[in-house]
Amino acid sequence: MSTSDDLIVGIDLGTTNSLVAYADERGPMVLRRNKDDSGLLPSVVSFDPSTHRMVVGDEAKLHAVERPLTTVYSIKRLMGKGFSDVTQEIRHLPYRVVRRPSREEGRDLPAVEINDRLYTPPEISAMILKTLKELAEVHFGRPVLKAVITVPAFFDDAQRQATRDAGRIAGLEVVRIINEPTAAALAYRLDQKKESTIAVYDLGGGTFDVSILRISDGVFEVLSTHGDTALGGDDFDREIIGVVRDEIEKQYHVRIESPATQQALRTLAEQLKIRLSHESEAKFEIDIGSDRRYERVIRREEFESLIRSWIDKTIDCCRAAIRDADLEIGSIDQVVMVGGSTRIPYVRRRVGEYFGRQPYTAWNPDEVVALGAAVQASILAGKTSQMLLLDVTPLSLGIETLGGAMSKLIMRNTRIPARATEMFTTFVDGQTSIRINVLQGERELAKDCRSLGVFELSGIPPMPGGIPKAEVTFLIDQNGILNVSAMEVRSQQAAGIQIIPTHGLTPVEVEAMVVESYAHAREDMTAHQMIDLRNQVTFETTKAQDMLDKVGHLLGESERRETETVIRTLRELAKTSSQPKEIQQARADFARKTVRLAEIAMTESLKTI
Ligand code: AMP
Repeated sequence: MSTSDDLIVGIDLGTTNSLVAYADERGPMVLRRNKDDSGLLPSVVSFDPSTHRMVVGDEAKLHAVERPLTTVYSIKRLMGKGFSDVTQEIRHLPYRVVRRPSREEGRDLPAVEINDRLYTPPEISAMILKTLKELAEVHFGRPVLKAVITVPAFFDDAQRQATRDAGRIAGLEVVRIINEPTAAALAYRLDQKKESTIAVYDLGGGTFDVSILRISDGVFEVLSTHGDTALGGDDFDREIIGVVRDEIEKQYHVRIESPATQQALRTLAEQLKIRLSHESEAKFEIDIGSDRRYERVIRREEFESLIRSWIDKTIDCCRAAIRDADLEIGSIDQVVMVGGSTRIPYVRRRVGEYFGRQPYTAWNPDEVVALGAAVQASILAGKTSQMLLLDVTPLSLGIETLGGAMSKLIMRNTRIPARATEMFTTFVDGQTSIRINVLQGERELAKDCRSLGVFELSGIPPMPGGIPKAEVTFLIDQNGILNVSAMEVRSQQAAGIQIIPTHGLTPVEVEAMVVESYAHAREDMTAHQMIDLRNQVTFETTKAQDMLDKVGHLLGESERRETETVIRTLRELAKTSSQPKEIQQARADFARKTVRLAEIAMTESLKTI
């Protein structure tokens, strides 16, 4: 049990959202108010115009429209800046930002004016930090007094100092300020390499930046950063809006002008964009009025061509960052993805193609910075030694196969990096997708293992059961990140997922899982064998029934009846018996009695060639 003194949390104090996280021996995790809470606290503070009462987060965000003068957002943009630095910026802010004379010669500071009171940017940020501090205190049931807070790599000393001040005002000792890209790399434990060069690609809603980091003996250095403060997911939404607006105008001669309709269209466009991250097309309808409906399907390829030039720009920034760092593209060892817009498959693909390696996406891109801050906090609290940092896989990894068995691809205690490939197939005719459930554990049945993630390999052309060949590859790299990919060989359809396998388990829990597997070893083996047998029986009897339907008329009447019986008997037995031996015998009998059927079917099929 830790005392308040060695309790250090990690905080991502973001422009739009903020999060608090903590790392213990199970790894880092974001702290949430309850299980349905995302953990994201909107970085918004709203004051009641008459009572001065202040609210932070979702509630404050709700007030943004009705209380534009007393709702403060994007305060991070003003942190540590002089008044003259932000004159452009504040033109876009609905709340009042005024000049506050400073003792420092020639450096007047901005302050937010609310109901005749002035608040400095650190004071506003402190309100956000205090809310996160309280959330953590509810979680731990004791005071939280220390934090690691992240800032953008390009923050200067004054901006960093303002962040420290915000912490102090909130009652937090800021034990360290770390760069956001460094935090993202720490979340993946890339600090453990002796020497390594990392690119962190951060594409959010409104901004993009890329940083090149060098790690040497656990010390991070930012070699270069590049970016665009006006490039992000909002631009992608606007591309969709543009298409929809033009088409509606052309087809119906209706112009979308009212702010309410424009807002509705923005929301619709963002939803469409998000759907296209999971689906190959998204259909939608808009009521134009007078009984007219605009209907449209946007396919993923179309969306990709709409955002291509934006993504080109981000790649140009990556190129510039590498050049500024005096490096070649080949010297980048790892690429880490941060920010909500890196969920777009096209973004992942382009970044992967440019760097010539698959970027890290295993952590939630909204959480990865906070998680890394928590890892830094645990290092400072001297707790990392308890975290699972291994050079072997502590538990076996595999996938669920038909009937609920666990098929292991990488056995426990395998040295990492490790790679394993296995072929799987479908059992049902015309099956066009395969669901892949990635499992961890020592038990033989999927239900007794931990599911690490699920994905779907879809778009397989319809083929008879057993014909498609899905090549499933497990690859654990030297940092312990697991990449699972699946490809159907004929159609070349592919899908995949990235996972951090050790996440969420303590060493004691790992040990318990292994011990439990010993206790159940015998019954588990039998259960697994039964599943395999039943699958075999289903496959064989289906094939035999198929042949019988096609060429049964070529068998004698009694022979045909006997074949029918033998198929039925084996099917029944597979359902009712729990004795593998009994089923094996019945299978042997079945094989003997269907030889002639198979021969006739073969002869007939040769005739048709
Ligand atoms: P951030 O600034 O990092 O919070 O990122 C917010 C941006 O990510 C917004 O533009 C969101 O629309 C976008 N975003 C979030 N989830 C997805 C998703 N699944 N697919 C595409 N964009 C997303």
